[in-house]
Amino acid sequence: MAEYKRPKNEEDFKQNFKQKKPLMNDTEAYYAGSKCLFCYDAPCMNACPTGIDIPLFIKQIHTGNAEGAAKTIYNSNWIGNACGTVCPTGVLCEGSCVYTEQDVLPVEIGRLQNYATKKVIDSGKVLFKPGESNGKKVAIVGAGPAGIACACELRTLGYQVDIFEAKSKPSGLTVYGIAPYKITNEEVLDEVEYLRSQLHFNIHYDLPIDSKGDISDLESKYDAIFLGVGLGETANRNIPGEDKDGVIGAVEFIEDLRMNHSNTKVGDRVVVLGGGNTAMDAASESARMGASKVILAYRSSKEKMGAYGFEYDLALSAGVEGMFHASPLEIMGNGSVTGIKLTNEEGNEIVVDCDMIIKATGQAKQGNFYSLIDGLNIDSSTKIEVNPETNQTSNPKYFAGGDAINGGAEVVNAAYDGKLAANGIHNYLNQ
Ligand code: SF4
Repeated sequence: MAEYKRPKNEEDFKQNFKQKKPLMNDTEAYYAGSKCLFCYDAPCMNACPTGIDIPLFIKQIHTGNAEGAAKTIYNSNWIGNACGTVCPTGVLCEGSCVYTEQDVLPVEIGRLQNYATKKVIDSGKVLFKPGESNGKKVAIVGAGPAGIACACELRTLGYQVDIFEAKSKPSGLTVYGIAPYKITNEEVLDEVEYLRSQLHFNIHYDLPIDSKGDISDLESKYDAIFLGVGLGETANRNIPGEDKDGVIGAVEFIEDLRMNHSNTKVGDRVVVLGGGNTAMDAASESARMGASKVILAYRSSKEKMGAYGFEYDLALSAGVEGMFHASPLEIMGNGSVTGIKLTNEEGNEIVVDCDMIIKATGQAKQGNFYSLIDGLNIDSSTKIEVNPETNQTSNPKYFAGGDAINGGAEVVNAAYDGKLAANGIHNYLNQ
């Protein structure tokens, strides 16, 4: 297993969690931009869920107009800086860049995007202003990327916007749930503050909307409501022994790590259950926190894992070992975890010694919350049903986006949803 020493302080932590996509300097950006062929049909652009005009912003960077490039990016995607680093660019824009057809490395679109947007954020360059007030008010539940994108777009259209956030920070999973080597807390929060300081939407923190009374209150005070509530905590899998000390959900583990860095408690021998991107993140992070052994146990084959191949490779490079066709039967231990009993590929029972188990086996849906809202149609996977052209729900006053409607996707999908819903709200309120 690759050697990561247990981080004892912030400096050690930063060393173990070095940024995967470091910020480009001006020279790097100039040369990276010079590689773009400015394809007329720009397949990179078609692969971007928010449809950013990629050749245009690269041209702007290449001609020394980073501010113009940032404007081009934000015109399509309000979470442009975070998306530059956390997007799975290898399967989206960069994965579609024409260079890949000839086995040549693609243009580094993500890092260029991050370069341009970081420039304006750091300099405080004013690029946006609210639209003239139209006297209408919209409430947004959840300050994740969908909620923030919706708020920005609505402000440009002249709406008063109040966001209600249950936690004490904005950005949802971008700040609480993404591996620290992909983006830092500061970078995420700086982008939200940059947008908020120009567009003046209100964020009310530590204010969960979780009762019928709260809902009625919003309905009486606001003209429309956007639901960007994401998903809940890690779902219980009903494995015997799941309540022992040392068993934790991946979402809760990653949140702890994002907030507490080197002070996060990580076992010496860790088993991560799951095969999605969150499982890969939790496994990589455990290894980088100095665990001596990290096993990723997945119930089916490697090929059937939901995670992107590059995420699995990243986990392997951190020293994680994959174990496939391994289904958990029982968590062992007397109070605290001492091991896990699994079936192996041959169907035999095996026990893996460990002192920590991370469940990356899916998050609970927000069904209880949805039931507080009259007339809200929910599908069989507990996702809110929306009109895909407007993101309006079956209750016309409500719109929704992000994980609440897709069951868990990328930040860029949430950014797209928020913008789409804002325009849906605008049309609805101006019929
Ligand atoms: Fe530039 Fe690649 Fe996009 Fe073509 S596909 S416009 S080369 S980034």
